[in-house]
Amino acid sequence: MNQVKTGLFIKEMRRQKNLTQREVAEKLNISEKTVSKWETGNGMPDLSLMLPLCELLDISVNELLSGEKLEDNVYKQKAEENIVSLMNDKTRPKTKLAIMCVSLCLTLILAIAVTLSMAYVETYVWVKIMLILISYAAVFGEIFLCVVVAVSIEIFECASCGKKFVPALSAYILGPHTLKKRYLKCPHCGRKCWDKSIIRK
Ligand SMILES: [Zn+2]
Repeated sequence: MNQVKTGLFIKEMRRQKNLTQREVAEKLNISEKTVSKWETGNGMPDLSLMLPLCELLDISVNELLSGEKLEDNVYKQKAEENIVSLMNDKTRPKTKLAIMCVSLCLTLILAIAVTLSMAYVETYVWVKIMLILISYAAVFGEIFLCVVVAVSIEIFECASCGKKFVPALSAYILGPHTLKKRYLKCPHCGRKCWDKSIIRK
């Protein structure tokens, strides 16, 4: 899938239908800015908007995703390529990370439950301390796994030279960060800067 190609295709089809960006936006109940974003390749229509948009432009979702009108003989092949590409692009990495986060939360709840229940359990103090330590060790293990999964699906774009790279695990863990950016040393130009995080495709 190619966002830019799809964007140009939306623009071309819209013009063939004699519609302005504003008219498309009004018919789909979205902002004009969103339509402009699609057409410049800076975003794909949400799944919920794909069908209404295609209906409006008189194209199929398959053609929208392919960014071109499709002849019958390549239609099926393109559809299969698009499905595989959709699965790889969005669902898989995010699902993986979501599963990790849920399991981290469960482990944390378990650790807290173990800690609290110790007040009611009659046993040696060292046994209690061991149980608590083990449950928190499990939490840290989960955190570590989450980081490993996050690293495996995240790549960074150097703010200085624009090249993409995967940081070393240690640099990733130690680097200061916000939700979208991380302070890393770029292996291409060697500069340290706040690099943009991108979910791997
Ligand atoms: Zn760089």
